[in-house]
Amino acid sequence: MKKYILDLTSIQLKAYLKVIINQDYRINQILDWIYEKKTATFEEFTSIPRDFRQELDKRFLLRSLKIVKKEQSILDGTIRYTFQSIDKKHFSAVFLPTKGKNSVCISSQIGCPVMCAFCSSGKVKYTRNLTRGEILEQILQIENDTKEKVSGILFMGMGEPTLNYNNVSLALSSILSKKEFAIGKRHITLSSVGNVTAIKKLADDNFGIRLAISLHATNEKQRKKIIPNNFGFTIEEILNVGKYYLKKTKSRLTIEYILIKEINDSSADAHKLARLLKRYDLINQSVQINLIPFNPIGDVNFSVPTQEAILKFKNILKLNGITANIRQAKGADIGAACGQLGR
Ligand code: SF4
Repeated sequence: MKKYILDLTSIQLKAYLKVIINQDYRINQILDWIYEKKTATFEEFTSIPRDFRQELDKRFLLRSLKIVKKEQSILDGTIRYTFQSIDKKHFSAVFLPTKGKNSVCISSQIGCPVMCAFCSSGKVKYTRNLTRGEILEQILQIENDTKEKVSGILFMGMGEPTLNYNNVSLALSSILSKKEFAIGKRHITLSSVGNVTAIKKLADDNFGIRLAISLHATNEKQRKKIIPNNFGFTIEEILNVGKYYLKKTKSRLTIEYILIKEINDSSADAHKLARLLKRYDLINQSVQINLIPFNPIGDVNFSVPTQEAILKFKNILKLNGITANIRQAKGADIGAACGQLGR
């Protein structure tokens, strides 16, 4: 069976290649074709002699994902890609075009075991983790298809990335590597619902990327309703690990807060959230709150908050010295907005 080349780290790949091409400069050329030129077939590795190219093709698989659906938003140009894996599973990634900085929101698992009540990915039965290669190939395929350079990565697609820590961290090393994707650590954000043990490891491994914690609530009962499988960590433990992450990495922290009508969008909730951040020393320039108005999905019994409630919530945070942004839904017309990727 052929080896999926993107599943191998550069060190592992070099060791494999040494068997067929024992010339360092040739091996470096191959890595260059894979990561720098992002070429999709071995045949196009034109600086490599033909017989080596054929040998590579015999031993390795360069692409394992197939784009089976592509939908573009007429509202903002966002593109949602649905990929099919070799074992015929489907998952999505989203291209977010912005002048001067294109980002890609990628998936880390097929289905999601966390099952957040507002999220359609949580309704898709968890099947397996994506491999290092499958995580990276989403970026390569999107760059190839759009012919655009991607300079920002969001681990915010399907799945809880911290539950696939090993493959996500292998992919992260490649994304950060100057010889591979060369994307700066401040342009990468990983989102978690608060897997405290894994966040602590991420802080200690010190990739220096930005962290987003999906808090979504100000008390445990409310949080359980929104995030049923929340790993059993308390809000206190989650905010404490956020503080630890900042101290350790000197990076930035975003608190994600989905606003759901009459569930967690009252003025009392806003005041409580402000008090919580104050208590955990999280009101400073390194912390911001993203307010995400609920995006309607299928048969969920939640409603979209009123514009008045959203603005009031934001103003209360602002009056408490907190940087709060209302996140505009991107690609809502194609099901690419936050929480919609599972449909
Ligand atoms: S919001 Fe994230 S963690 Fe929650 S179900 Fe959706 S993909 Fe999973």
